[in-house]
Amino acid sequence: MTNVRSFPKTETPSKEPIKALVLCPVCNIEMCLFGIESESDKRDLFTFECVACSGLEVRGVQVKAAASVIIPIPINE
Ligand SMILES: [Zn+2]
Repeated sequence: MTNVRSFPKTETPSKEPIKALVLCPVCNIEMCLFGIESESDKRDLFTFECVACSGLEVRGVQVKAAASVIIPIPINE
């Protein structure tokens, strides 16, 4: 007897210091964290990649604030 078990829909534990939820503007799905680079002492740039369309989104994150704040910033490519 073989039972095919689906993945349990448990909530993802958010133990990460920064929980950044970024949705792809094209696919409207959650994007994966692609990379982090420091823009300044007060802000980091988080780059997210969409697994569906490989689109990239960049968010500026204030690292000085106690609670991480995701700030949409315009990026000119
Ligand atoms: Zn996408």
